[in-house]
Amino acid sequence: ESALERGQRIGLQRIREFLKVRTSYDVLPLSFRLIIFDTSLLVKKSLSILIQNGIVSAPLWDSKTSTYAGLLTTADYINLIQYYWNNPEAVNRIDQFKLNSLRDIEKAIGVAPLETVSINPQRPLYEACRRMLESRARRIPLVDFDDETKRAMVVSVVTQYRILKFVAVNVSETRLLRKPLKHLKLGTYKNLVTARMETPVFEIIHQLVDCSISAVPILNSDGVVTNVFEAVDIITLIKGNNYDELNLDVGEALKKRSDDFPGIYTCSINDRLDTIFDTIRKSRVHRLIVIDDEGRLVGILSLSDILEYILLEGESEDGKLEQ
Ligand code: ADP
Repeated sequence: ESALERGQRIGLQRIREFLKVRTSYDVLPLSFRLIIFDTSLLVKKSLSILIQNGIVSAPLWDSKTSTYAGLLTTADYINLIQYYWNNPEAVNRIDQFKLNSLRDIEKAIGVAPLETVSINPQRPLYEACRRMLESRARRIPLVDFDDETKRAMVVSVVTQYRILKFVAVNVSETRLLRKPLKHLKLGTYKNLVTARMETPVFEIIHQLVDCSISAVPILNSDGVVTNVFEAVDIITLIKGNNYDELNLDVGEALKKRSDDFPGIYTCSINDRLDTIFDTIRKSRVHRLIVIDDEGRLVGILSLSDILEYILLEGESEDGKLEQ
């Protein structure tokens, strides 16, 4: 085993040990706010509240039954758009939809229901990560049970980004992860889904759905990455219940992006996870676009790719099935 291999192995081992002794509670800051939507809220109001608060998802609460009602994410708004495409005559009715209508929409267009997976915050963080990978969720609500009231309590939501940042800040052995990306099975390099500035947004939304991905890089005629359209960009586009915006070129649509857009992060196949963890520590990264020296697209490294690698790389099939 070379020093490089050994470092990589030990680094991964330390991260896994760390995730097994920490809980989701540990990831939460001492003080934080939690925005929960009542299921009787109008969909259009939910959009403006998300935008005002700079968030992209929220847990739902059914106050009639006093129960947690799942996590609202961009996927639900995409379902709404698909419903509109199938029923454009319903646009005025859609304007009056409440969050609890989303269930019926999901039935109408035949997709999986709202994200309902959750985890008890006292469980090891490792388990929260496994559950996210299994369900392909990018975030997971922490739901505790109150013994006194016998009711579920939504404590917070943790995202893949928060967990990876927590690892980056607390596990110093991430600096041992020095094998370059090109020698790791990490990220996607084939059959990349891309678009051009002239591509209409609705085409990109179809691609997001068909390929179950959350972002599409925008390339110029030389294959150079000039921008990235993200599923969360949809929120700003449909906030006015103006679905014509979806016919816009993506170039036009991206001009509506808010000023606090965190930006696009790139890396090269010669980069290593140690520096990628540095980036995660310092910035709000959602994915890294892998480019060559000329800025041309080479691959995509999503946070779920990184999470899967640090949890499962080198684990035996038994290990993968354990627990
Ligand atoms: P995340 O789950 O972190 O939000 P995505 O949903 O974007 O990430 O990615 C899911 C999987 O699809 C990952 O393995 C990622 O590498 C791959 N992927 C992401 N975007 C694209 C794309 N535009 N074309 C092809 N594959 C992609």
